[in-house]
Amino acid sequence: MYRFYIAILAFLLVLTFHNSLAQTDEFKSFSEDSVAVSDDEFKPFSEETVVSDSLKCAGCPTTICQNTKPTSLNYSWGSPLLITIIALCLTILAGIFVRFRATRNFRIPFLVVGIGFFGFYNGACPCMISSFENLVLLVRRVEVNWLNTLWFLGLIPITYIFGKVWCGWVCHLGALQEFLFKPKSKAWFRSERTAIILRRIRYSLLVALIVQLVIMDKIFWCSIDPFMAVFNIKLNYNYEWVSGILLVALVVTSIFSYRPFCRTVCPVGILLGWIAAIPGASIIGYKKLACTSCKSCNDSCDINAILRRKRVSFLDNKECIACGNCIDSCSNCGLDFQRKTKFNRVVLFLRRSSKHLKN
Ligand code: SF4
Ligand code: SF4
Ligand code: SF4
Repeated sequence: MYRFYIAILAFLLVLTFHNSLAQTDEFKSFSEDSVAVSDDEFKPFSEETVVSDSLKCAGCPTTICQNTKPTSLNYSWGSPLLITIIALCLTILAGIFVRFRATRNFRIPFLVVGIGFFGFYNGACPCMISSFENLVLLVRRVEVNWLNTLWFLGLIPITYIFGKVWCGWVCHLGALQEFLFKPKSKAWFRSERTAIILRRIRYSLLVALIVQLVIMDKIFWCSIDPFMAVFNIKLNYNYEWVSGILLVALVVTSIFSYRPFCRTVCPVGILLGWIAAIPGASIIGYKKLACTSCKSCNDSCDINAILRRKRVSFLDNKECIACGNCIDSCSNCGLDFQRKTKFNRVVLFLRRSSKHLKN
């Protein structure tokens, strides 16, 4: 099945390359044959018209805007605001689909749509990370178009109602890593110890990101974003050498480790995870009588949201991306979606007598 989706991805890549060649040819014939444009004439168009027409992020490096604008102006789907609305609607739909066993099978097609539309088609800009950064700048009273913050703000109530379905079902950054992942990776990458180290790095990087935004009052991440480099490959996008190195690191680590960027870097993943601690939020918990401590759910959770410590299994809903794998893996229906209360059962004491504990 995976091969089918990889074939679709390859098709999308070919399509985007084809578009880029067409655009280059059009541009060539336009610029060389038809019009001789002086520097002075071109300047007002590029700096005032093109950039100010977009929902430009505060402090966004204009070189990147200029690189990505040709597609943004050409696509018929309209403005970044419309893309934000599509992202939020798709996430709500995913939130409904994850609740039912039959529709949970649609997770991979959702990810294909996410990577195809928000990634390769839209060039990964805008995205939920820049939306979060704009929100921080808005709080800092930096001049920011408030519409830029809607993507991140919209994900907060959706995550409260449905869980972190954006991460598990739609996010183009998560999807890219997931499609690169080789499931039979080394045990070290799946160990609890690794998961804990990665979480600590992630919290440190969140603090570093906020400090950077507060000190510089501008968005710096876009200029080194490896996802921008890969999703704008069709534009011969002039990325910084740092993003080239990060891109290589991202691809290599994604093959051996499940979603390394989500588990090590992404600030949005952390913040949406905290919503699981709010009373009434959507979480996954153990049903009291159904569970037989077989540990299948532990093994099915690639992102290590279910951790084992000797005879205890702990489901950390902050890390859960609502993929639904653990629910489907349980033959006793021992897990389900619940609303957060003081009494949810997220810690499981594995029985010593269980035959699976011998392994
Ligand atoms: S953690 Fe970040 S990059 Fe990963 S799926 Fe969630 S929002 Fe996307
Ligand atoms: S919840 Fe289901 S899969 Fe997980 S340990 Fe219990 S019986 Fe096994
Ligand atoms: S606990 Fe793990 S397997 Fe279960 S829904 Fe969350 S991320 Fe998926």
